[in-house]
Amino acid sequence: MALPAPLAGLLDTLRQRVRADFRLGVYLVFGLLTVAVLLPIAGVRFAQGHTLLALVELVIIAAILAAVRHAWRGGDLDRLGVAITLLMTSAGALIATISPVGLFWLFPIITAGAFLAPGWLALPACLALIVFLLWEGEALLRSGQPLAVVGALFVNGVFAAVFAHHAGARRAQLEQLATLDALTGAENRRALEEELEIAIAGARRDGRPVALALIDLDHFKRVNDRHGHDEGDRVLQEFVRLVQASVRRSDRLFRFGGEEFVLLLPATDEIGLEFAMANLRRTLAALTVSGEPVTVSIGGAVLRPGEDRDGWFGRADDALYRAKAGGRNRLEIDLPPD
Ligand code: GH3
Ligand code: MG
Ligand code: MG
Repeated sequence: MALPAPLAGLLDTLRQRVRADFRLGVYLVFGLLTVAVLLPIAGVRFAQGHTLLALVELVIIAAILAAVRHAWRGGDLDRLGVAITLLMTSAGALIATISPVGLFWLFPIITAGAFLAPGWLALPACLALIVFLLWEGEALLRSGQPLAVVGALFVNGVFAAVFAHHAGARRAQLEQLATLDALTGAENRRALEEELEIAIAGARRDGRPVALALIDLDHFKRVNDRHGHDEGDRVLQEFVRLVQASVRRSDRLFRFGGEEFVLLLPATDEIGLEFAMANLRRTLAALTVSGEPVTVSIGGAVLRPGEDRDGWFGRADDALYRAKAGGRNRLEIDLPPD
């Protein structure tokens, strides 16, 4: 059975976003579990008259949902991870002291913290929790098995931290392999597809302009023919090094095909694009082979409201075509119609 279009669209966006950032997925699962499990429990607590406990749970639920929202909107996940781990750890300590079975919650809190917090924080947060419980005493004594609880919390903390670290390192490694071009170190075409969608969604959300520049090395076949393929490879590597040195850190360079590259420039309008490309062309004056300059042609376009990826890319491609047809070694920016 086919899903209704808006739902299918939402699921598609969800899949793309989670694929691009694993931690966002952890936040979403976290949000889902919060609504499905914690919210009903808080309701039962209220009904049973445990108002203080229910209020603490509601504050935790609100904080988790705010964190999920922040993560979804593209907030800084490192800082959010620190904040949410500290908050959950403190809330867990509080719940452990006021509820006879509050200690149970420390296990998922420690596990979630290991995946959301940066590596340096997960284990110290777990140890701080254990030290607090030993200092407070009551919660552990009430459990009847203080030693076993402390031991289990510690083992949980170590395992979660080790697995989270291992998973994070492997993911980063795989992501690098899957998204970087092996010859030049620029991001590859696959990464470009994802980033274009993210850039378009971001521009729609916050209304900021975003620009695209297609850069094609001129007469590159000739470079290979005259100086050899290895020298051609070196020129491509040098090109990427020079571009990355010239643009802002937030601008991203992708290798689209052989000697064709795409530069994605967030928060950039036509004037900004012109400025950035003029700057880039000055830097690329240093790109030479056996003392002869290697030039580039550039076609640029700023995303228009409501435009999709193909339309945007097509306009930049047309501009590149004009730059080539106009004699190469030049910049053409597709300007708004008025
Ligand atoms: P134009 O100015 O019209 O862009 O001419 P061009 O020669 O640059 O364009 P064309 O598309 O005819 O040729 C591109 C050349 O780029 C052909 C191909 O051998 C070379 N090329 C593609 N990938 C690589 C690579 O990884 N290494 C090297 N050395 N050359 C490559
Ligand atoms: Mg070329
Ligand atoms: Mg080409």
